[in-house]
Amino acid sequence: MLSKLLQTSSSKPKQLKKLHALVLTSGFSIKNSLLTQLLENLTLVGDMCYARKVFDEMHKPRVFLWNTLFKGYVKNNLPFESVLLYKKMRDLDVRPDSFTVVSMLSACGQLGSLETGKEVYDRARREGIDCNIIVENARLDMFLKCGSTEEARVLFEEMEQRNVVSWSTMIVGYAMNGDSDEALALFNMMQNQGIRPNYVTFLGVLSACSHAGLVDEGKKYFGIMARSSDKSLEPRKEHYACMVDLLGRSGLLEEAYEFIKSMPLEPDAGIWGALLGACAVHGEIKLGQKVADVLVETSPDIGAYQVLLSNIYAAAGKWHCVDKVRSKMRKLGTKKVAAYSSVEFDGQLHYFNRGDKSHPQTKAIYEKLEEVLKKIRSMGYVPQTRSVFHDVETEEKESSLSHHSEKLAIAFGLINGRVEDPIRVMKNLRTCDDCHVFAKFVSRVTSRDIIMRDKNRFHHFRNGVCSCREFW
Ligand SMILES: [Zn+2]
Ligand SMILES: [Zn+2]
Repeated sequence: MLSKLLQTSSSKPKQLKKLHALVLTSGFSIKNSLLTQLLENLTLVGDMCYARKVFDEMHKPRVFLWNTLFKGYVKNNLPFESVLLYKKMRDLDVRPDSFTVVSMLSACGQLGSLETGKEVYDRARREGIDCNIIVENARLDMFLKCGSTEEARVLFEEMEQRNVVSWSTMIVGYAMNGDSDEALALFNMMQNQGIRPNYVTFLGVLSACSHAGLVDEGKKYFGIMARSSDKSLEPRKEHYACMVDLLGRSGLLEEAYEFIKSMPLEPDAGIWGALLGACAVHGEIKLGQKVADVLVETSPDIGAYQVLLSNIYAAAGKWHCVDKVRSKMRKLGTKKVAAYSSVEFDGQLHYFNRGDKSHPQTKAIYEKLEEVLKKIRSMGYVPQTRSVFHDVETEEKESSLSHHSEKLAIAFGLINGRVEDPIRVMKNLRTCDDCHVFAKFVSRVTSRDIIMRDKNRFHHFRNGVCSCREFW
């Protein structure tokens, strides 16, 4: 009876919790099979807090239950919890299996935690866990999400078996890392080897075109999908978003707008958001305003879009409009997502907010930052104050700019770690113009490579140049 109820209420978290509480208060001892069902349903609806509670109530959960939780954490974008759970699993001497390893590698990819990812894999190998093609594909993905295209390529070449997932992972990864040439070269190679691309492969191809501003190629590949007799290749919303991004970033804003209007599918926030982002890059106020209106109507809860709009106004110096958007945001209760950056050192992730002073090495970090700023200023670095939020005095703007989370993370990377290793910075939002210029200069004066992953893509800074060639 209860099991049936749990099954039928799979998408109703409130009902699930009620049922659970009911059983508990009635004094029944709950069988693990029911808790299992409950756990699975909760991870499906994304209530990971409650799922964890249920999990903790289980008596000696078997490995597949651990895996259910791992998978849930990854799916719900809680990679850090996944890593903590893995540590607990090891402490309790529960033997992981290949599913655990796959989830953990995904979690490490999300976190940008290259060292931990490698450690998990090496340990799995030592313990004789089956590292099949699914594990190897997850490892490929982990390398790419941590910005290590070199290690990914070595693995890809060494893999005894490769499938369409392996190829697509590489193509998507190269695109994300800004290496469009390699992405497209692999796409050709894949076809020459007779492997049929799927919709993920095309997503990688389109995003490679988008990151490199290859408008004609992008249109060509999109056309191939649209005309294909293979129904599974029919363009999905993500492909449309990629095309809008490509057109928009190349400055073809009106064309992008018309493209959205002619879509056979209902455009979602991701698609409009891509156009709004492009309007922000090109300082296009009129269209930006129009797009923002659509977005506020369809997804008023997404503060990021209003932030973009207020950035557009700020860049144009229209401060009264910035104020209007800000007060609208306050009224709607939308919050700006706080920016943070992380760097991994010695198997630990170190997090920084803007102006952060909570790190034990704070003093040394700020001293390093000052030292580097002084050096690069003498080389011609000028803070990019154009799109900083409010029209405060230049000096104040500069000081708030100079303590952006990425800069603190880079300074931390400079005082820790080996000179020959790149500094890997993971940022939760898009990086700003100023941090981009800063990183270029720093890579030049310190001869350290800086790899920065932001919300959309990677920037590989080396000797004063960024791999994105300023197209981002
Ligand atoms: Zn910044
Ligand atoms: Zn860049």
